[in-house]
Amino acid sequence: MKLTILGCGTSTGVPVIGCGCKVCTSTEVRNRRLRSSVFIEVLDACGVLRNILVDTSVDLRIQALRAGFTRIDSVIFTHPHADHIHGIDDLRIFNVIQKSSIPCYGDGATLGRVKLLFGYIFNEDKKDGWKPQLSLSTIDGPFDLFGLTITPINIQHGNNMIYGYRFGDVAYLTDCSGVPTESLELLRGLKVLVLGALRKNPHFSHLSLDQAIELAEKLKADRTIFTHLSHGLDYAKDAHLLPAGIEFAYDGMEIEG
Ligand SMILES: [Zn+2]
Ligand SMILES: [Zn+2]
Ligand SMILES: [Zn+2]
Repeated sequence: MKLTILGCGTSTGVPVIGCGCKVCTSTEVRNRRLRSSVFIEVLDACGVLRNILVDTSVDLRIQALRAGFTRIDSVIFTHPHADHIHGIDDLRIFNVIQKSSIPCYGDGATLGRVKLLFGYIFNEDKKDGWKPQLSLSTIDGPFDLFGLTITPINIQHGNNMIYGYRFGDVAYLTDCSGVPTESLELLRGLKVLVLGALRKNPHFSHLSLDQAIELAEKLKADRTIFTHLSHGLDYAKDAHLLPAGIEFAYDGMEIEG
């Protein structure tokens, strides 16, 4: 499987509107971060390449154009914060291309919130015009998509418990402020860990850089990649803060799992 980082920015994106800080004004392209989302490509049993999108970020349209994907076989949601779901309307063009609805997966709270926030998608009212065709399925344990085992992992995100996901030997834990003990066991033996690390200073609902390094060193993945980065972290200038085996994500980064 291949995982592509479509966006590694926090909820504001980087640069932040109106900000003149060194990261927001830097010429380093890897400091330009769209909202967090990843794209997974996997070969199914018939040798057909299948695509799984994790979250429909606010920047979904530009992310699809940049990465050049024109098909989404499934969507998996981590949690219902605006930066992770508000691009949902852009799924409708994929319905047209694929001539089918798109299966979407998430925990009950996330899908309930999606239905509430985007009620127009799920009613039968024709006056709402052209809208996405989606089928929602609640998941509460490991499931299989295209031969890939996907394991939801409970992680803390401030006061909420949300899902990170393990895809074979690759895990994606985006908005994370802590990992409960029972979830640590599900994260052993990883080749790649993609983990949220917001900024240097502590934050109530995200790991700081030091906390993320501490967790990464505990989980001991072969390779750890930090995502959901704010403008408080500079791709190049802060790289020296990362121990061996840990690196910052950048938009467009491709990872073989
Ligand atoms: Zn987020
Ligand atoms: Zn800034
Ligand atoms: Zn969040």
